Amino acid sequence: MELNSKKLESTSRLIYYSISIILCLFLILLSGRIIDDLDTATTRPEVEQFLDNTYLSKLHTKIAPLDKEIETLSNKSSTLEKTISIAKENYTNEKQSFDNWVQARKTLGSPDKDQEVVARAKKLDEFYQVEQAWRTQRQTLQTKIDEDRNKTQIFQEQIDKEHQKAETLYQEELKHYDLLVFLIRLLFVAPILALGIFFFIRYRKHKFWPLFFGFTLFSLYAFFFGLVPYLPSYGGYVRYIVGILLSAGLGYYAIKSIGQYIEKKQAELKVSTQERAKNVQTSVAEKALENHYCPSCGKDFIIKKWEFPIKNIDTEAYKLVTDYCRHCGLQLFRKCDKCGTKNFAHLPFCSACGAKPTVEKVKE
Ligand SMILES: [Zn+2]
Ligand SMILES: [Zn+2]
Repeated sequence: MELNSKKLESTSRLIYYSISIILCLFLILLSGRIIDDLDTATTRPEVEQFLDNTYLSKLHTKIAPLDKEIETLSNKSSTLEKTISIAKENYTNEKQSFDNWVQARKTLGSPDKDQEVVARAKKLDEFYQVEQAWRTQRQTLQTKIDEDRNKTQIFQEQIDKEHQKAETLYQEELKHYDLLVFLIRLLFVAPILALGIFFFIRYRKHKFWPLFFGFTLFSLYAFFFGLVPYLPSYGGYVRYIVGILLSAGLGYYAIKSIGQYIEKKQAELKVSTQERAKNVQTSVAEKALENHYCPSCGKDFIIKKWEFPIKNIDTEAYKLVTDYCRHCGLQLFRKCDKCGTKNFAHLPFCSACGAKPTVEKVKE
């Protein structure tokens, strides 16, 4: 007894695809876990690995006292700066006082006291000398600071160079590391993809096809999407090339199958109508009747209005159809052997009396 009511068919299809998708999801989650674990097999390089630490610490020990000296000198310099500004203020005050004094003397008109003028000018000059002396001292300090800074800079440049060198080596190593990680993952994912393709080709029509199909879906996901975040720069090539090979292969396979199917159908049409009638399966017959096409050649058997009048019209309903296919000669409608009611010839029972038709069917 064959069960193929429409509802059952659509429900079971839904269940089958759900099974495939659920299986696929869990496989994806599991594979993600496995891929993460695979990473522990390799250690990611660090920049620090490539630094010459003894060399660097030597440089740093050279820089440290210089930095300290610069700091001390800078502190001294800023103290000096304050002293200078005081000295400058003293000089300015003194000069102001001197100017005023000279002015007063001019007004009073006693230029005979030149000796005193000289003395006061000398004193003013001393103030100026003090300021200058501080300035010179500060200048010396500044020169020393600059020298130290230059030395530090040379060491700093050496340090930077060492870091750059390490960075270059690190980048190089990182490329190797990425490649290694990618290859390990590919080693894991490529067989999955191969197996997925194999399952699709081999077990598409298997009783447990939803399980195989779930695996195939997972394999495609694992290869084309699961690998994505781990692809090195040229990984795109790998992905696209495999994609092209896959679509070309599947395309070739599909075109070939369609060609074979058409050939098979054409060969079938050469066989006698009785032989073909035996080979029409009930499920095919149901669909053919529902969509009014011949179950053998697939062409529409409904008659258009302009094709009237036709011969041997029994009932109103059967005006629209022909007893034999006009395209391949297959019998479509026939009278029941028992009660004479006209039925679609490829269904297992008579619609009026329930008798089995005498036409023999090949075992389905
Ligand atoms: Zn036909
Ligand atoms: Zn009957």
